[in-house]
Amino acid sequence: MQQFINLTIFIFGASIGSFLNVLIDRLPKEESINGRSRCDFCGKKIAWYDLTPVLSFFILKGKTRCCRKKLSFQYPLIEFVTGVIFVTVFKDGPYIESLTRTVLISGVMACLIVIFISDLKYHLISDYILLALFIFSLLSKFVIPAEAGIQVIGFDVLSGLIVCLPIFLVYFISKERAMGLGDVYLTAIMGFLLGWQKGFLALYIAFVTGAIFGLIIILFKHRKLKSKIAFGPFLVIGTVVMLFWGERILEIIKKIYG
Ligand SMILES: [Zn+2]
Repeated sequence: MQQFINLTIFIFGASIGSFLNVLIDRLPKEESINGRSRCDFCGKKIAWYDLTPVLSFFILKGKTRCCRKKLSFQYPLIEFVTGVIFVTVFKDGPYIESLTRTVLISGVMACLIVIFISDLKYHLISDYILLALFIFSLLSKFVIPAEAGIQVIGFDVLSGLIVCLPIFLVYFISKERAMGLGDVYLTAIMGFLLGWQKGFLALYIAFVTGAIFGLIIILFKHRKLKSKIAFGPFLVIGTVVMLFWGERILEIIKKIYG
């Protein structure tokens, strides 16, 4: 039975992943996300049976049926990863005791996937996906009545403002060269979702992983970073780590310093 439930959640997640692929590539170009999927190359409508998440890519051997052009490996990869993430959130997620909250956290994760890939690919975080992330985060707080009071939400808003302050300063001082406004908004939502303690730790993880990644690139490519690396993916990594393991990490820190 458990296997069946997992498989159902995986298929649901992979189908959402299919939609995330559309968002990843169309939102930064401000294209419409409505309508059935069309071929990227010749514009022909794609039949429903060729839109099966993960499987279609392999059945079609990575090529479009209509014009035999190479399909991006991003499609099956995002579908698969989204499926796995949804199963993980539903099985071992941070809010497993509330089904509604688990669904909303899956929404948060879906937005984070879109932000991760579109910032990596296009150096752009769409305002629409930030708005969606904020709405999922806000709704997830209203599920538990004890945590939904005006005072608590007010404190979360304050946390968001405090956590985004360092990124805002970098954005302001570097005149948008080091960080974009998307990074500022994203960190504000991180602080709102996680609270100021976990929010700052997520920020810290983002800076550390970003620095390590930057070093690796410099060491192995033997050239200076000509194109800047987007910071969004590292912010997403920090957020996911703190969302899943934040409580445990805070406990350990309090044990060491408390
Ligand atoms: Zn085609």
